[in-house]
This record gives sequence, structure tokens and C-alpha cells, in this order.
Amino acid sequence: MLGYRHAFHAGNAADILKHSVLIFCLDYLGRKDTPYLCIDTHAGAGLYSLTDGYALQNREWERGIARLDAGAPDRAFPVLPAMLERLRVLARNFRPDAEDGGRYYPGSPALIRALLRPRDRAVCFELHPADFVVLTHVLGTDRRFSLRREDGFAGLKSLLPPPSRRACVFIDPPYEMKEDYKNLPRSLAEALRRFPTGLYIVWYPLLGNRDAALPETLIGLYRGNRCRAELRTASRTDRGMYGSGLVILNPPWTLKAALESALPVMAGLLGDGCGGWDLQWESPA
Ligand code: SAM
Repeated sequence: MLGYRHAFHAGNAADILKHSVLIFCLDYLGRKDTPYLCIDTHAGAGLYSLTDGYALQNREWERGIARLDAGAPDRAFPVLPAMLERLRVLARNFRPDAEDGGRYYPGSPALIRALLRPRDRAVCFELHPADFVVLTHVLGTDRRFSLRREDGFAGLKSLLPPPSRRACVFIDPPYEMKEDYKNLPRSLAEALRRFPTGLYIVWYPLLGNRDAALPETLIGLYRGNRCRAELRTASRTDRGMYGSGLVILNPPWTLKAALESALPVMAGLLGDGCGGWDLQWESPA
């Protein structure tokens, strides 16, 4: 049963964390001529209206991308760190105040599309039938993309290793089903077995009623360069999400300094007075 719809959450604080890191990593891969493959195992609808439909329910984007937009010269952060400014500018392109006067926020597939070069390729998996239709519409006839209405956990291994031996794998499950917590480590372990040098970005929620076993398990699957970045935007209670994190395997070495600049600003801008962050960076001894 697929109940999760990302449209409720588009542009929120978790999106700011995951999308700023995704952009940073694709920019990094794009510096070398050799083409890369980007795999989005849980793609969502690709583009979201912020002024219509589901996004109106909780207006989560007002505590996310809208705060980056405000840029806050009158707050503690006169200038946004580079990786947040990059997301802010890219995201603005997707809400051009078109004829409908609406505002939009890009999901991961739209951001990937904006960054792919002519010879790069992307594969997006999305299981929800309605979101898959929107995704197909958003990506149109872009021949660099392959869209699959299939299970991303199961489909990932068939794409690895990529012919160019360069890939970014973005794994962003909804965690609405208990199976996600089992399928994710299984799928990541198999992917690493086939392609240990890939750049993997895995998002996870911080939930008050769950222990922190998942990120430990994911980090433990790999012995090479790896990092864990967490952003807290609320106080921890038994109910609900109080933040989220990323496990990144084979991160670009420049990401450490970028996150050290960006995480405190995210915590301050998005945290409503109880924000916090954590960054652990591990390299083989
Ligand atoms: N990655 C998107 C972004 O950053 O804009 C958001 C993705 S949302 C958190 C998770 C998506 O995964 C939902 O649209 C859901 O329908 C889809 N989904 C759930 N289980 C899946 C699976 N096993 N394989 C592929 N897609 C799945």
C-alpha cells in the first residue's frame, strides 16, 4: 500500500538538506569530462506545486525553501553558504510565476535534469501510479532519462556497475512501511558489492519513537570514506520527525567543508530555536 505523497512535504527542511547535498555531489561529478549515471531509486513526482493541492495542507515549505529565499540579512546569516545559495537559485527557476501565478519546488528528478550534461544519464524509479504519471510529464521526452515504475530497491543492482564506472545513487525512501528498513540495507549492501566506488547518498528520518540503528547499520556496510550529516529542526518527542540525516558513501572530499558551513546555517534558519546538527566524517585508517 503506497500512502506516502511527497507533495505534502515538498520544499521542507529535509528537502533542503537532501537536495543541497545532491546538487553538490552532481556538480562535483560534472567537473570531470567522463559521463556519469545518476540513479534515483525513489524519485517521487519530480516537481511540486507549493500554492495548490497537497502542499497547502501543512505548508511545510514555508519552514524550508521560503526561509532560504528570505536569505535573512536581518537574521544571524547575512550570506547563505554556497551550497544553500546554489539550491535557492536552482529552485527559483522552477517557480517562474508562470501564467497560473503558482510557485513550484523541484523534486530530485527535476534537479538532476537541470544538472545532467548531454552525455550523462539518469534512471528514476517510482512506484506510485499517480506520481509516476506526473514524473513522466515533468521529464517529458528527455532521452537522457529512463523512467521505471518498479521497486527501486530491487532494480538498483541491475544498473551497477555503470559502463562509465561513475555514478551517484540517491536513495530516498518514504519509510512508511517497515519493510523499507530491511530492504534498504539489503539493497545498499548488494549495490556496494557490485560497485564499491559509487557515490551513495541515503536519506533517513530522525523519529522520536525509533532508535538510531538504521544509520549505524548503513555506515557499517562500508569501510571506505563515508560521512553522516544530521539536521535537527524540532525537539525530540515520541511523536513525529524531529529532523533527518544523510549517510554518504564516497563523498567528494570538498563536501566536508561545505557541510561545516551549511549545517549551522540550516539549523539556525530552519530550526525555530531548537535546531541542531551533527557531522561525522570517517576515512579508512
Ligand atoms: N526523491 C524525491 C525527491 O527528493 O524529490 C522524493 C521521494 S519520496 C521521499 C519517496 C517516493 O518513493 C514516493 O513518491 C513513493 O511513492 C516512492 N516509493 C515508495 N516505495 C518505493 C519503491 N520500493 N521503489 C520506488 N519508489 C518507491
